[in-house]
Amino acid sequence: MSGAGPEHLAFSGWIDPPADPLPALEGELACDVAIVGGGYTGMAAALRLRERGVEAVVLESAFCGWGASSRNAGHLTPTIAGDPQLLASAYRRRAPELVRLADAAVHFAAGLIERLGIDCEYVPGGNVSAALSAGQMRRAGRIARFLAGCGGEVELVEGREAGLPHAFRGGILERAGGTLNPGRLARGLRAALGDAGVRAFERTAVEAIAPSRSGVVVDAARGRVRAGRVLLATNAYTRDIPFGPPRAVAPLWVTLAETAPIEPGRLEAAGWTGRAGIYTQHVILESYRRTARGTVVFGSRLPRRPRGPLGARTPDPAAVADVVRGFHERFPSLRDVAARRAWGGWIAMTPSWLPVAGEAAANVYYAVGYNGHGLAQAPYLGTLLADRLAGEEAHDDLLAVWRPRPRFAPAPLFSAPALRAAWTIDRISDRFAGRG
Ligand SMILES: Cc1cc2nc3c(=O)[nH]c(=O)nc-3n(C[C@H](O)[C@H](O)[C@H](O)COP(=O)(O)OP(=O)(O)OC[C@H]3O[C@@H](n4cnc5c(N)ncnc54)[C@H](O)[C@@H]3O)c2cc1C
Repeated sequence: MSGAGPEHLAFSGWIDPPADPLPALEGELACDVAIVGGGYTGMAAALRLRERGVEAVVLESAFCGWGASSRNAGHLTPTIAGDPQLLASAYRRRAPELVRLADAAVHFAAGLIERLGIDCEYVPGGNVSAALSAGQMRRAGRIARFLAGCGGEVELVEGREAGLPHAFRGGILERAGGTLNPGRLARGLRAALGDAGVRAFERTAVEAIAPSRSGVVVDAARGRVRAGRVLLATNAYTRDIPFGPPRAVAPLWVTLAETAPIEPGRLEAAGWTGRAGIYTQHVILESYRRTARGTVVFGSRLPRRPRGPLGARTPDPAAVADVVRGFHERFPSLRDVAARRAWGGWIAMTPSWLPVAGEAAANVYYAVGYNGHGLAQAPYLGTLLADRLAGEEAHDDLLAVWRPRPRFAPAPLFSAPALRAAWTIDRISDRFAGRG
């Protein structure tokens, strides 16, 4: 590896923060629905409520797109329940409805991008849950059959046939979805709010929500909203807000890095001729994808637990070094290619490994906890919840994750020792990579 280490960014490598932040909320206003959080969930919900003629306002503590929505790896994928293996084991009975939800979410997100005309470099080439060893490939075959039996748009592919890099033997091709620039998607949704005339307030952290005679009162530092209902779209940050469903989410910090531009032909020489995004079948996945700017964005491996409140932070240098090591192990012919920058963000894990939606208190609704797969599921569930708040009967895909009561079990699997153990298992499994 050549040159100085990667630049550590406090926001995202995909886009810059907006030059035109919207005004903060000052004074008092009234509306039907106050949406807390301006990521994919909150922005998609606001757009749908607007379409339905319901007056909504968005209250965002930084700017719309500040959270995971502008930072993620950009795999538009129908993966749900952690990974396909977990779906086949922990959710055998419910799998058909979850597979249907996840596929519908991808088609919804792709349709939203098209309908709003958002240029987010979307490449609809699918994604592959890729095997590194013969054992993983056999398991991939079993899971692919199971998912296809549940109605999933998947097939088992060989590495060469799918144009995967040499390190990968093949895997489960998820045909729905592909890769995109998530920052551009978030920015496009933010612009769509303005075009649709949705009232949004940035630099407006909601501090308290209290019941009132006509619904709820939502308080920020310098303003107040009197709303009929509230929609919490705060994903990982839900842990830190006193009015969210307690213990609904366990935030984990996920690290990404991006290479310098790679000379044309070198990825193809490494076997990567296909366009599908790739994630590995490790317990804690690694992800790899090409970008429109001729780079590779990759990451995950060992996530970090929060110490204190989830504020702005730059990536942990040890975590960056670890993902870069992973990249060079998977792409030995690119060992001279340096990582140019790194960033990260908070994902929201849930004890069930499934997204959750429900009513946290009277008139306070939520849709959160996408377990690192919310690029499609966040806008979809935000939209379905908006439909419900607009008076429609709940959609089956919303009911599939609906919690009648906001009670959540502790999640010991996301403790630091458990994560470290999973990472160690992954490094042991790496010894079998390429064998058999
Ligand atoms: C590094 C990384 C990689 C990922 N890769 C993928 C991927 O490849 N594919 C995939 O499907 N998913 C991926 N994800 C997950 C995906 O990005 C998220 O599931 C999705 O963006 C969640 O959207 P959201 O709107 O629910 O949450 P967010 O985008 O996090 O938005 C929540 C918003 O709430 C605001 N907020 C919080 N508290 C308050 C408050 N008190 N008042 C007002 N506003 C508040 C925050 O500022 C934030 O903007 C990844 C996530 C990360 C971090």
